[in-house]
Amino acid sequence: MTSGIRFDSVTVAYDRTVVLDALDLSVEPGEVMALLGPSGSGKTTALRAVAGFVRPVSGRVFLGDRDVTDLPPYRRGIGMVVQQYALFPHLRVEDNVAFGLRARRIARDEIRTRVGEALEMTGMAAYARRHPRELSGGQQQRVAIARALAIRPEVLLLDEPLSALDAQLRSGMLAELARLHRELPDVSILYVTHDQVEALTLADRIAVMDRARLQDCGTPQELYRVPRTEFTASFVGNANLLPVTVGDAGARFGEIDIKADTSGAAPGARATLCVRPHLVGLGEGPNRLTGTVREIQWRGPTHRLYVEVEGHRVMADLRELRNPPALGDRVTLHFAPEDAVLLAAGVRDD
Ligand code: ADP
Repeated sequence: MTSGIRFDSVTVAYDRTVVLDALDLSVEPGEVMALLGPSGSGKTTALRAVAGFVRPVSGRVFLGDRDVTDLPPYRRGIGMVVQQYALFPHLRVEDNVAFGLRARRIARDEIRTRVGEALEMTGMAAYARRHPRELSGGQQQRVAIARALAIRPEVLLLDEPLSALDAQLRSGMLAELARLHRELPDVSILYVTHDQVEALTLADRIAVMDRARLQDCGTPQELYRVPRTEFTASFVGNANLLPVTVGDAGARFGEIDIKADTSGAAPGARATLCVRPHLVGLGEGPNRLTGTVREIQWRGPTHRLYVEVEGHRVMADLRELRNPPALGDRVTLHFAPEDAVLLAAGVRDD
């Protein structure tokens, strides 16, 4: 049996302040969905609504076809891992992992099998007899993951599971999580993070949250190539957001004519064009932007140039720049018409 997760217009409020506003979202069976957004945007609240730790003021939560909105957490069959591991300090690793199984009154032999399996999967079999204090942060998090997997959940909720780890451990654990998901292809995973690298690496789809609302949802490639909103464009990757007026075959940015596909908007509408900084080149080309260099940052493989064009700062990430311009120089940047994306939610008729 596999089951996905469905939020049907789920609203959560604390003291009458809405912190999750009518969320509609489906996670398909076996899919990894990242909830990505800044701190306070409502991600953890959405996750806790699935787990059963917060009650929506309206809307329903489904696991597969089951409406679980009124079920207590322990009857939902969900595995959950939070940032701070939350292991029981007085219990050995194996007993921490067995905890949820004992609570479910599963037979002793079965518990031994499942604990062994879960510790094996997370690479922690050799640490079964240790106490949490005898483990590193990364190892403790593995135990927390083993504990969640031991109940063989159909749905796994991960709340910033890597954010307490240092950068190097984090990237190792990210690969581990991807491997685990390959070994458990039927488990639906909801993964809360504020880190776009984690979301882009792990997720089949990303739901972008801001200020209690779902802003955008799509595969990492879709959100990166064709973001719908300014928020997504700048939160998933970097973006130049050019305010333009739509013309008959393109757009006007200040005094500059731009060739781009603006067929999604009526001529005369004000809109936003998104151009990724790494798709902006230095020198002559289609769609020329001439302006003054205001800042240059060396970033190892690239130089980031900030160029003031028509009163806006345009970013260009340039590789192999042998003779960088100087501050105050006039330069010309360019980008291809197909690399400019008209933001659907950035079209205004005023
Ligand atoms: P995120 O996970 O995106 O950082 P949260 O879902 O944790 O955001 O929080 C969303 C908002 O709800 C925040 O403004 C937070 O302060 C508020 N909030 C979360 N939990 C509670 C609570 N138990 N009581 C009151 N306000 C809360």
